[in-house]
Amino acid sequence: MYQYKGLEDTIAAIATPAGQGGIGIVRISGPQAIAVTDAILRLGSGKRLAECKSYSVHHGLVLQKDDIIDEVLVTLMRSPKSYTTEDVVEINCHAGPAVVRAVLDAVLTAGARLAQPGEFTKRAFLHGRLDLTQAEAVMDLIGAQTENFLRVAQHQLKGELSDELKAIREELLELYTMVEALINFPEEGIEAQSRQQILTRIRIPQERVMRLLESSKSGRILKEGLRIVLCGKPNVGKSSLLNGLLKQHRAIVTDIAGTTRDVLEESVQIKGIPIQLVDTAGIIQPRDTIEEEAVKRSNLYINSADLVLLVLDYSSPQEEADTRLMEQLKGRHVLVVVNKMDLGHQLDISSPIKIFGREHVMTVSALASESIRELEIKVVEIIGKVKNFDTHGILISNIRHIKALQLAQDNLQNACRLMNENTSLEFISEEIKGAINQLDAITGRNIDEDLLDRIFSQFCIGK
Ligand code: GDP
Repeated sequence: MYQYKGLEDTIAAIATPAGQGGIGIVRISGPQAIAVTDAILRLGSGKRLAECKSYSVHHGLVLQKDDIIDEVLVTLMRSPKSYTTEDVVEINCHAGPAVVRAVLDAVLTAGARLAQPGEFTKRAFLHGRLDLTQAEAVMDLIGAQTENFLRVAQHQLKGELSDELKAIREELLELYTMVEALINFPEEGIEAQSRQQILTRIRIPQERVMRLLESSKSGRILKEGLRIVLCGKPNVGKSSLLNGLLKQHRAIVTDIAGTTRDVLEESVQIKGIPIQLVDTAGIIQPRDTIEEEAVKRSNLYINSADLVLLVLDYSSPQEEADTRLMEQLKGRHVLVVVNKMDLGHQLDISSPIKIFGREHVMTVSALASESIRELEIKVVEIIGKVKNFDTHGILISNIRHIKALQLAQDNLQNACRLMNENTSLEFISEEIKGAINQLDAITGRNIDEDLLDRIFSQFCIGK
């Protein structure tokens, strides 16, 4: 498929994170992987690795000239049953930075070349073991911060997205063949009927592409997370709520009004959704330029928030500052958190209910863990509604995939429009082919080498 330079090289890299640890692994892949290892290895059995079976582990010493570098365990995986489908050797050594580096140096001196970032996975792709969506899933899997996103990456690695794209491609290919047949073998009187048939059939792949695009909203949320901003006048309990959600005391909580002078950001996982929590200064009337800046920054955060938690104090009557904030937040996605319910009910909650709706107002006590649990449930419920959030099925999370699907969708919309306008079939055929090309770009069937290099350069070395 690809005529890639450098595939004949044998590559090597450290496959484990830098630093001290239990085991460090140097991974070698390519036609000379076994010969290179044999050049620096003395096995306890007295054999050469070249004589050993695939999927076997051997004890030995890595030597440079006659000096022992390390005592190691070597795993041998012969082509084609390996990660890259090439001969692969993994040298398990002691994980000190100097040891692993010295083993790698010995391997490089023996004839391997240092692997580029992602080059092992790129070889798996170039040899057809993974398609591009699966190769990208490997990267997502390594980078996954939450269990939910890990699940998305695992499904993609298993090939669920590839299978769906393959099925859509099949449908488009059939349509393309139908259109081409009509162009090449026009028959009197049947074109109108066939056009109608094509138009009906094109809706099926079109809807499947649309469903994938729909799923990208949830996919992006799982990958990148959401921003929830806490706002409210000073001393209403914003920091206490933030701390409750973080379940650890990182923000400074005191009872002197206005302690949190500026914006504070923390990351937290709520029910498997990565969330960036932002505690704003709570300054309503700035007294100096520093406070003016803080208010500006708070407003920027509020404007970019996926959800705003407006915190009010149940134990004191509504003040002008509360009214102003409620006015400012009208029309945004807001959950009003009426706090300090343990201290008395002085606040008339009918006004936030009137503005934001009953479903968007809840009473809590930031100091009670039960309240925090209820708050978490409510937050997830609201996010689910406002973001149409789903964690099931195939979820698209990769920007590259989203862009290609959008272009495929444009192609299919154009095809339908041209069909309705009775435009010449050549143009319709072009649009369908365009959509197929976009799907092929996602799976890597049809993608230029520069882009491929760019995708793999985002991987870590050794993967
Ligand atoms: P912020 O300025 O809005 O961030 O408010 P803080 O979180 O710093 O809270 C101000 C004061 O109110 C602190 O003394 C908290 O312990 C107290 N506080 C916060 N929430 C509650 C609550 O639900 N009940 C009670 N009794 N005190 C609370």
